[in-house]
Amino acid sequence: MRKFKDIPLWKGISPKQWSDWKWQVRNRITDVDTLAKVINLTDDERTEIANSTKYLRMAITPYFATLMDPDDPECPVRRQAVPSSNELHISKDDMEDTVGETTDAPHEGLTHRYPDRVLLLLTDQCSMYCRHCCRRRIVGTTDHSRNWEEIKAGIDYVRRTPQVRDVLLSGGDPLLVSDALLEKTLRELRKIGHVEVIRLGSRTPVVLPQRITPGLVKILRKYHPIWFNTHFNHPKEVSPASKRAVEMLVDAGVPMGNQSVLLKGVNDCPVVMKKLCHELVSMRCRPYYIYQCDIAKGLEHFRTATAKGIEIIEHLRGHTSGFAVPEFVIDAPTGGGKIPVGPSYLISMSDKRVILRNYEGGIFQFPEVAGDRTSKCPANCRMCKDYEHLESEEGVAGVLSGKKMCLIPEGTARAERRKVYAKKRSKCDGS
Ligand SMILES: *Cc1c(COP(=O)(O)O)cnc(C)c1O
Ligand code: SF4
Repeated sequence: MRKFKDIPLWKGISPKQWSDWKWQVRNRITDVDTLAKVINLTDDERTEIANSTKYLRMAITPYFATLMDPDDPECPVRRQAVPSSNELHISKDDMEDTVGETTDAPHEGLTHRYPDRVLLLLTDQCSMYCRHCCRRRIVGTTDHSRNWEEIKAGIDYVRRTPQVRDVLLSGGDPLLVSDALLEKTLRELRKIGHVEVIRLGSRTPVVLPQRITPGLVKILRKYHPIWFNTHFNHPKEVSPASKRAVEMLVDAGVPMGNQSVLLKGVNDCPVVMKKLCHELVSMRCRPYYIYQCDIAKGLEHFRTATAKGIEIIEHLRGHTSGFAVPEFVIDAPTGGGKIPVGPSYLISMSDKRVILRNYEGGIFQFPEVAGDRTSKCPANCRMCKDYEHLESEEGVAGVLSGKKMCLIPEGTARAERRKVYAKKRSKCDGS
C-alpha cells in the first residue's frame, strides 16, 4: 500500500479531502491518462485499457488505487480494477441476465426469488467498477441512483407481500446513495411490520472505506436489525482504513459478513483464501460465501474450475476455526439461486450406522439409535400451530415433510403429454 502523498497526482490533496468519500467519488480514475499517473503502463497496456470498457465502464477510487502495485500487471488488486482485453471475449456460455434477476422481478429493480426475502436495488452506481462484476448488464449504465418513485414501487411491493421478512438492499452499491436517500429507504422499510431484517450488500468498506462515517453508522443504528455483507477478495485489500470501516460497523451492532468471488489469478488458491478468512475474522467479519465466478459476458478469463472452490473448502474445514469457513456456492443460471457445493463428508450408511470421514481423512462411524427413530412433538408444544407460515411446503422440504407427493418438472415431453390426456379426460367427463 502506498501513501497518497507519494503519488504526484494527489500531492496537493489534504488528508481531510482524502478522507471525504464524496471527494473520492468525484476524483475516481475514469481514463487511461489519469491511471498512467498512478501505475506504470506500457503503450500497449494503455491502448488495451482504453478499448476494454465496452461492457462495463472504468472507475477506480483513488484510495483503492493506492493498494495497487504500480509495476506488477498481475497484482490481484489491480486485476480487479483495471480493464483487460479479455473482457471483450464472449464465450459460448456467457449470458446477459445470468441468474434470472429480471425474470423474478415483480418490479424493475426488485427481485423476489426466495420465499421470504427480496433484493432491492437502490442505484446502478458503484464507487469502483469491479472487472469481475456479474451485474454488469445494469451496473454503471447511468452511474446514478434510481429515482424515489422506482424505489418506492419496490417498497410498496414489500408492504403488500407479508411473507417478505428480509430485504436486501443492493445495487450497484447501495451506499453510493446519499445518507438522506438511504435513511428514507430504511425508514419506510422499518414501518412495515413484517420486515424483520434489512441487509446491505456494499463493497464500500473495501473500495471506499471513507464512506463508513460516524454519521452513516448513526443512521444505521436507528433501524436495527441491520446486517451487512461486504466483498473482500484478497488479503491485500485489508488495510488500516478498511479494517476501521468494518470495525465501526460491528461496533454499531451491525453483524458483518463477507462474500468473495473466486477469481482466476486473484484468489484461486487455498493459502490466499485462508489468509483472507483469518484477516476477516480478526476484524469480526464472518466469511459468508465464496461464489463460483458467474457466466456474465466477458468473464471467462476469471472463471476457475468448480473443483477449485471445493479444494479451497477442503483446505479450510477442520483446518481452521469453523466460523472462518465460508460456504462455496454456485448461483445457478436462470434463477436457481445459490446452491452450496463442497467436499462430501458422508461416505456410507446402513440402518445401524453412518460412516463419515473427517478433514484428516480418518473414517469414523456414528451409531444410529435402535428402535423408533421418528421425532415426536412434545405434548404442550404449539409452535407449528402458532407459526404455521414457517413450515416449508415448497421444494424438497415440502416433499420430505409429506405435504407434497413429488416434484415433477414442467416442460418435459411427458408433462406435455399429460396435459393432453387431462384435456381429453375432461372432455369425456363433460359430455
Ligand atoms: C443472494 C440473493 C438473496 C439472499 O440470499 P441468501 O442466501 O439469503 O444470502 C436474495 N435474493 C436474491 C435474488 C439473491 O440473489
Ligand atoms: S461493487 Fe459489486 S456491483 Fe459494484 S462493480 Fe463491484 S461487484 Fe459489481
